[in-house]
Amino acid sequence: MKFLVTVPPVITPSEPPSGAFLLAAGLSARGIETGFLDLSLEYFRHIFSLSPEGRGYPAVMPAIDYLLHNPDYTPQQHRTSVGILNSSMKLFSKKHPGWKITLMDLMPPVSLHRPSELVRICRDGNTPFSRFWEEYLLPVLQRCNPENVLVSLSYLSQLTAGIDLVLFLRRAGYRVTVGGSLLNSLSRTGMGYELVRSVLPESSLSDGSSLLGFNSGSDPFLSDISWPDMLEKWNYISGRPVIPYTLSTGCYWNRCLFCPDSSRKLTIYAHETFERFISTIPSTLMDMNPVIHFVDSAIPGKALEAVLPLLRRYKLDFYTFARPEGWISKIVDRLSESGCLMLQLGAESGSRSLLDRFEKGIDPATSLEVIEKCASAGIRTYVYMLLGLPGETEIDINESIRFLEKAGDSIDFINFSIFNLPVNCALTDRAAEFGIDLLDHDSPDDAIRLYRPFLHNGQNPRIGARLAVSERFAKIASVAEALKRTPRWFRTSHFPLIEIPGRNS
Ligand code: SF4
Repeated sequence: MKFLVTVPPVITPSEPPSGAFLLAAGLSARGIETGFLDLSLEYFRHIFSLSPEGRGYPAVMPAIDYLLHNPDYTPQQHRTSVGILNSSMKLFSKKHPGWKITLMDLMPPVSLHRPSELVRICRDGNTPFSRFWEEYLLPVLQRCNPENVLVSLSYLSQLTAGIDLVLFLRRAGYRVTVGGSLLNSLSRTGMGYELVRSVLPESSLSDGSSLLGFNSGSDPFLSDISWPDMLEKWNYISGRPVIPYTLSTGCYWNRCLFCPDSSRKLTIYAHETFERFISTIPSTLMDMNPVIHFVDSAIPGKALEAVLPLLRRYKLDFYTFARPEGWISKIVDRLSESGCLMLQLGAESGSRSLLDRFEKGIDPATSLEVIEKCASAGIRTYVYMLLGLPGETEIDINESIRFLEKAGDSIDFINFSIFNLPVNCALTDRAAEFGIDLLDHDSPDDAIRLYRPFLHNGQNPRIGARLAVSERFAKIASVAEALKRTPRWFRTSHFPLIEIPGRNS
């Protein structure tokens, strides 16, 4: 095999990580022998298989059965089943003092932000992954014998296992390349790419295609993708297969002042690309009623409209992140009829003046209309709110509270984020203009950093924002209901499967 594209633990095991999956799909479409192996999924499977059975132990297998074999989850049963898997993870963590591994996070016994410390504990050996590499991974590598193993890192939660994996691959004599969106984020909007590179010289910032010496000419790499060779059978923990796909890369708005992604060029892919991709999805998976997860940063309305007939023809349901703009209200019934199970909507604030100040281009009145229309059309709504923006006043907070009260039961799931200032972005460059005092980092010099500490008018707005979430926002009756309904684990892939009266299934 020429390439093995792989992702180290831990990433929630409910769908393939999009970056690595699409890279493998792009290489496969060009006839390059490429395998895809989600080591995070297999790691969780490995842990669950080791879970002791019997009285007093979490009943892991029935919990997985529930999550695997139900196309719809009740919020209560979902919570119970996921709680059991978490208990099993806790038992596993106990065997490795100092380590904490959950369904979406990993805390090593040293700072997660210091690559030199991470490599030290991995070199000492006997990590929670050692046995897995030896017992599971080595035989797989010996079977497929890849010329190059590409290790894709998307989240900080993968960095420790990623380092341990590269050390293992080096010892086993395999050629390794390390890439992925985590490294790109560190280099573009954060600090610390060089720190990672100092312990993993195999790291590269090139995009997947050039990284592997593949020249796609003038065509963007994702303009041709086909189902990759999955080294293991589809085994994701989800009642319906969730398949990542992107209609675009970059963002058509591209103006928000604290955008973490602003340097990416916008490319929108033709609907024919999607049709070709669908035709390569294995029939066994098509028979399992899959859901397409469009992973675009902000889905372009026209590109989505263009694929609606295809989604209907192939009976594929979908969900995606969208900016809450007027085009959604206009086609909401068609979205619903075409299988839109959920929209993730970045409403962010009820204060128009605050959103305008940071060039968000979002109008709360439009957001409200979109949320209400989606709910009436039977589409689940997952609303993202952002608090703690520099200069957010009591008036802004009250406007956000009124916004949520008006949206009421139209909001099915909700997420409150507290603003973080990226180390590098337009807002950081123009900090003084916005009354922002940039503070020195309080972490050691050898720590990677994604965000910059700051004050606004001598105050840290994050503190007040946290208080407002717990003491005011969470007490709005409909918000309290939405928070209760919003699963803490398994991220968004399970949300479209949660039963909500009045929403499609
Ligand atoms: S909508 Fe998102 S991706 Fe687009 S510019 Fe704003 S923050 Fe960036």
